[in-house]
Amino acid sequence: MDPRVQQFMAMIKARNPGENEFHQAVQEVSESLIPFIEENPKYKYSKILERIAEAERTIIFRVPWLDDKGEIQINRGFRIEMNSAIGPYKGGLRFHPTVNLGILKFLAFEQVFKNSLTTLPMGGGKGGSDFDPKGKSDNEVMRFCQSFMTELFRHIGADTDVPAGDIGVGGREIGYLFGQYKRLKNEFTGVLTGKGIEWGGSLIRPEATGYGATYFAQEMLSTAGESIKGKIVCISGSGNVAQYATEKVTQLGGKVVTSSDSNGFIYDPKGIDAEKLSFIMELKNLRRGRIKEYAEKFGVEYFEGNRPWGIKCDIAMPNATQNEIDEEDARTLVKNGCICVTEGANMPSTPEAVEVFHKAKILYGPGKAANAGGVATSGLEMTQNSMRLPWSREEVDQKLQVIMKNIHATCVIYGKNSDGYINYVDGANIGGFVKVANAMIAQGVV
Ligand code: NDP
Repeated sequence: MDPRVQQFMAMIKARNPGENEFHQAVQEVSESLIPFIEENPKYKYSKILERIAEAERTIIFRVPWLDDKGEIQINRGFRIEMNSAIGPYKGGLRFHPTVNLGILKFLAFEQVFKNSLTTLPMGGGKGGSDFDPKGKSDNEVMRFCQSFMTELFRHIGADTDVPAGDIGVGGREIGYLFGQYKRLKNEFTGVLTGKGIEWGGSLIRPEATGYGATYFAQEMLSTAGESIKGKIVCISGSGNVAQYATEKVTQLGGKVVTSSDSNGFIYDPKGIDAEKLSFIMELKNLRRGRIKEYAEKFGVEYFEGNRPWGIKCDIAMPNATQNEIDEEDARTLVKNGCICVTEGANMPSTPEAVEVFHKAKILYGPGKAANAGGVATSGLEMTQNSMRLPWSREEVDQKLQVIMKNIHATCVIYGKNSDGYINYVDGANIGGFVKVANAMIAQGVV
């Protein structure tokens, strides 16, 4: 490791003990940025890297609620307000039992660079709770969301901090959170994105992360004279991002052969077509069942406790969670002829896996660039809320496609090596950094 990175990381680890995912995210970024900062000393004198790795504000709070049996439950709520140099804090809320401070700090840190890449005026934040919506009734989820918002409302606002969804927070949860915010503040504002279409939501927002990751893959493939048409695609996850990535890949002529949840994955060699996808959507979004039922319904294989990366594919799209592709998975993907990895999820590949992709010189699009379509469309939702005017589906999709093309172009500018290989990690890190860093310098030591 570069001794400068080592020294910086020693400081980060000492200040943030035990927060492994946060260390991982900061190290990846500092490996790209430290050499860049050496060449651009104004960032060094202003200690931008040290400042950007320290949250502007961290809020941790108690979330008590009553379950259906009348028993009191206690969860922990968080909001990390990471950086507001270029706009109000913006980033999702995650409800999952694994949520802790380190995971949310990694997500908030990544969000700063991602939001900058979109070119929209959004700072970075992230939040959530260790609450598990799985197995809870709608009423329990509502009571939890109301209690969570009863504290969070005093820290957020349309011009201050605008949360959205993430793992475990979809349309249902955003509805309950928004309802409670409106009741407490007595105002109808665009304080959350991912809202229902009848009450301030944007068309294409539910689709945006999965569609955007697919558009990004298309851009990467075009640099190699390739396209999605006719390609075999392995997708992990079966939630929001996975569902709409499956839809867009299929529309563009690719064949998605896997879908997964935290229990296992299904392999459908004939491909998950529109009809089978609507089964998954009903299963996951309404009945809230397990992916295993797909195998029973369509007579395909189900692999309990496994991830889909052993299935031969041309394109891999990890769309579930962090660190879901390890070094061995990466080697298997490359050995099986995979030419492109596009991350719908945040940090789904371990550092060792990323090294395997880079050594093999395959197309590798890190989450902060590839999945930025979600937050970009949230930014478009904020614009529509401010104007009090909704745009058409075509208009939003068109804007999303342009944004993904521009993010790709930024990555090429900052990430192209002398041999022509595009290092999208460097491209996204440096491309996302410059605007935020310049804004921080302009705003003084704050
Ligand atoms: P959902 O909750 O809709 O879906 C998550 C999916 O991933 C589910 O299939 C879930 O399975 C699976 N999953 C979650 N945790 C694990 C785990 N520990 N191991 C294996 N599988 C797991 O979330 P999203 O689709 O919204 O988010 C997926 C990823 O995309 C996350 O990394 C998120 O940060 C990222 N992302 C999301 C954006 C958005 O707009 N929603 C924007 C940008 C990034 P199960 O049902 O069994 O839990």
